[in-house]
Amino acid sequence: MRYVVLRDDDTNALTPVDCLERLYRPFLDRGLPVNLAVIPHVHTDVKTPDGLLEGFLFARRGGVPSALTIGSNDGLADYLRRNRGYHVVQHGYHHDYFEFDRINRSETARRLDDGASLLKEAGLSASQTFVAPYDRLSRDSLKEVARRFTVLSTGWFELRRLPFSWWPLYALKKMLKRAHWRVGRTLLLTNPGCLLSCHRPYRTMLDEIKRTIESRRLTVLVTHWWEYFRNNAPDPVFISVLHRTAEFLESCPDTRVVSFGDLARGDASLNS
Ligand SMILES: [Zn+2]
Repeated sequence: MRYVVLRDDDTNALTPVDCLERLYRPFLDRGLPVNLAVIPHVHTDVKTPDGLLEGFLFARRGGVPSALTIGSNDGLADYLRRNRGYHVVQHGYHHDYFEFDRINRSETARRLDDGASLLKEAGLSASQTFVAPYDRLSRDSLKEVARRFTVLSTGWFELRRLPFSWWPLYALKKMLKRAHWRVGRTLLLTNPGCLLSCHRPYRTMLDEIKRTIESRRLTVLVTHWWEYFRNNAPDPVFISVLHRTAEFLESCPDTRVVSFGDLARGDASLNS
């Protein structure tokens, strides 16, 4: 059996419900879990290094406060609660650029705890999974995340960022050529990059996804909802690739789509 976790990043208080509904209704109707990495207290002025407003803020209008909690958007929180196929995981806190690579250890701890509280206050079940903004974590952030979460989903791990006590296990992971590994009770998951991305060719995207899923036991498929709505308009070709991915996942007899929670409970084996 092969396993796929679909992870969509950057849902925040300014995410229009219609966007998620348009993208994920075919997944929800098929019973395929959608893991949403949700920003608990989004800063509404986050910019990319080239000075542009982050894509996940495209629906921002004038006069918004500098930060918004996820629970401040009643309609969105209600939508996420009502649709049980969404599995909310914690995505940073403010989602500042390289947030969890830049703050000190005590601030890291505070943001992790406050973020969990904000998700809970919004009625979104306490998540056991953490996703760092831009997949970037400092050594101290890794320690604090591992103390609180049973799953960390990120792009890759680098020796120089890891707590020293993790080094022997990391060496073993490298030796065994394993994509995913574990330190204590925390699963450490990597992903093959953002395969569902507007920066990749649409024509070959689904084939690339199929090949990747075929080549490993567990694939974390990462995407970003706002990339399907660039320039305030839906991108129907890109959306159809996502929907054909849902069809493919449903039709594959030896592939199961699972949530991060399923992995934390040990319902899927991680490495082939
Ligand atoms: Zn993000």
